[in-house]
Amino acid sequence: MPNIAVIGSQDVDLYEWLDDARPLVVPTRDKEVRGTVGKLHGVEIAFIPRNGDGVPRPPHVIDYRSNIEALVSLGCRQVLTTSMAGTVRTAIPLRSLLLLDQFIDFTRNRQFSYFRDGDPFGFADMTEPFCPSLRESTLAAAEKAGVDISPYGCYVCVPGPRFETRAEVRMYGQLGADLIGHTTVTDAVMAREAGLCFVTVAGVITMGAGLGEHAMNAHEWHESRRSCAQRFRLIVDQLAHATSIGEVDSNGCGCRSAAPIER
Ligand SMILES: [Zn+2]
Repeated sequence: MPNIAVIGSQDVDLYEWLDDARPLVVPTRDKEVRGTVGKLHGVEIAFIPRNGDGVPRPPHVIDYRSNIEALVSLGCRQVLTTSMAGTVRTAIPLRSLLLLDQFIDFTRNRQFSYFRDGDPFGFADMTEPFCPSLRESTLAAAEKAGVDISPYGCYVCVPGPRFETRAEVRMYGQLGADLIGHTTVTDAVMAREAGLCFVTVAGVITMGAGLGEHAMNAHEWHESRRSCAQRFRLIVDQLAHATSIGEVDSNGCGCRSAAPIER
């Protein structure tokens, strides 16, 4: 059973970085979820590319539920994820990393719950939508890795894949959001419903519409993604090291019972 799972956005691929990396295939109710399993510091890590293992699927049709079902099936409770996002605030520059602590969900017409029609379900407590214990461990890992990361960030999740209008960016800022993205809220909700511990490290790869001095060019875009992904890998490495020496407390939170099942 893997100790840590990573759901990675595009540009995050742990295959060449894990020891003894090998393909991971997990049957779920709808499909086989494919990824990689390997080790860091002797700790088993399961890696699942959020957008699928072939041609990347756009955010509104990602099979978020199957990814979470695969982790439940593996018995993996600690889930670290990435999300590449746009900033709503000029005070949060390109290539910043933020450990999300809140979100606002504007998605529609996509999977939105781990619970299927006809199955037992619960009402998930989302007061603190990201695991407080795993957040602490992730911040400690970032510090040890020498990676600068904001301990807070409010992420507004929108349908995508299009970018926002100038008016939308202004509105999301007024609502309290720091970042705009298309993905991680959907799997954060499902993870909480499934009783998993889940955190997201968000990397800023674009300025929201109307905030930048010039339009994003392809080189900046790819360099920002590469830079964020590289620092995320350093955090995972330190988190695995902390896990290997027993410094990660995986029992001090309420995630496992946050969505008590109705009977
Ligand atoms: Zn937790």
